[in-house]
This record gives sequence, C-alpha cells and structure tokens, in this order.
Amino acid sequence: MTFVSARNFGGELFPRNLVEFDEWFSTEEACEAYVMALRWPGGFRCARCGSARAWRRARRVMVCADCRVEVPLTAGTIFHKTRKPLRLWFKAMWWLTSQKYGANALGLQRVLGIGSYETAWLWLHKLRHAMVRPGRDRLTGLVEVDETYVGGLGEGVRGRQTESKAIVAIAAEVRGKSAIGRIRLGQIPDVSTASLESFVQRAVEDGSTIVTDGWTGYAGLERLGYGHTIKVIRGSGQRADQLLPRPHRIASLLKRWLLGTYQGAASPRHLDYYLDEFTFRFNRRTSTHRGKLFYRLMQQAVALEPSTYREIVGGRWA
Ligand SMILES: [Zn+2]
Repeated sequence: MTFVSARNFGGELFPRNLVEFDEWFSTEEACEAYVMALRWPGGFRCARCGSARAWRRARRVMVCADCRVEVPLTAGTIFHKTRKPLRLWFKAMWWLTSQKYGANALGLQRVLGIGSYETAWLWLHKLRHAMVRPGRDRLTGLVEVDETYVGGLGEGVRGRQTESKAIVAIAAEVRGKSAIGRIRLGQIPDVSTASLESFVQRAVEDGSTIVTDGWTGYAGLERLGYGHTIKVIRGSGQRADQLLPRPHRIASLLKRWLLGTYQGAASPRHLDYYLDEFTFRFNRRTSTHRGKLFYRLMQQAVALEPSTYREIVGGRWA
C-alpha cells in the first residue's frame, strides 16, 4: 500500500512544461495523488470519522486509515468508471490545454494513440463540458448582453430561427473604454423573454447592470434584480454593432474560431460544448502558463458529475 498525500505536490500545483508534466505524472499513483490534492485542497478528511490519513487500497480506491471506510477517488468526477488509465486522461488534458486555438477528436486520437475515434470524440466532449462550471463564476459589474446567429449562411432575422442556424446569447463584462472582461455564452432556443432571462440568470450575478439594445425580451430584467441600461440607435451614422461592441466582437471571434478550428463542422446539437471551449479559452486568454490552464481544467474535472454518452450525443438540453 502506498501512502498518498497532497503534500507531494507542494504549493505549485501545476507542471510548467512538458518535461515537468512527464515527471509529475509518470505513474497511475502520481495521477491519483494529484486528483486527491485537488479534491481535498486542505488535505484529506474522512467524511465519516474526520481522519486526515488515508491509504491507497487499490486502483482509485482510498481507505481511511482510522475507520477503514473506502473512498472511491474518482466518484462524481469525469474520470468516474473510466477503464482507461488516468495517465491517458491527464495526457489528453495537457494536450487540449496546450492547443492554442482548439482541438479536434482526430488530433486527440493521434496524440493518445488510441484506436477508436469515437472514444477520442467522447473524451473531448467530456473535457469541454468540464471547461465551464454551470452556475459558477457568474459575471459581475457592467455586462453587455446580445444574441447572434451561428451556422448556415447570411444573417438571421431576429425572432425567426431557421433550421440550420443556432442562436447564441452572449454576455461580456465591460472593462474600461473598450476592453472585455470575462464572457459567458449559451445556446438558446429562441429570443423570447423566458429564454433570454434564463440565460442572463445563469450567466450574470444578481445586482449587476445589464446593457442591452431595445429588444422587448430584455424588458423584465429589473424585476429579476438587475440594473438595466437600454441602448438605442439615435440619429444616422450609428450602426447596431456600435451599441454593444463587446458582444459583436465576441460573435465575430466565435464564428471565425468555429470556422477555422472546426471548418464549420460544429453542429447545433453539439454547439454547447464548443461554446464551453471557446469561453474557457477566451476567459483565460491572458494566462501566462499553459500549465495553469491544465490545472483549472483538472480542478473542474474533479468537481463535476459524470456526463454520460447519452447526455452528450443527445445534446446537453435534449
Ligand atoms: Zn474515517
């Protein structure tokens, strides 16, 4: 039996480069210790007796050194019930976060040397799902909100969704004169009040001030506890994209990214996962260390409920 401790990793919780990555995660035990360090940041605590000591009994099974209760290490995480080694998952995550623009299943399949394209595709979707924690890290302060249409050709007409187009709601924090803070994106079924309000509530902290155009779907935001500033086009010479410059900039970046990285192959059914990946990358665009991205993703991966294949192939809200 091996004694596994979060202390193995000291204060620096992420590898800084590929050499360190290989050194840190050379064995299954080391990967398990890392998962443990992230699940119990203050050190292991037995939920039953409060003991701080645990032993590794078997693969991904810890046992409390005092009351002997078994603690499945990866229950409730995206690694739950996976038969593949954690090392392979770690490798996938390192690769995913070190891709500058985006990742596709074929690339992942090649890097991991796994036989099945379906497995690579499923892993990528699980990892994308772990990139954004729903209901957490909501935006604050002054936030611009707008919608855009993705997919198909040409611009859509508001309120009339076509078969091939998906509607994406965009929220972007206002920073200074023209800079963007964090963003949140969400696919919405239509631009009704219910859909827009539900998006805003998932994306933005109560008490923040939302900036929108004059669309009636946003009229009830104050009732929900938000401040609301409405911008309307006044006079000639002002374009719609000048009203809400941030969502417009995000929309064009998103469309370019989907086209460049996925050749427009992101179907509306799976769009949520791509939106999560885009959001994750955008919100951490200034991260100096790739290792930090890996660390964030790992933190979120171990804090999640497992997503099943059925959920994924059916689309998240299907
Ligand atoms: Zn115990």
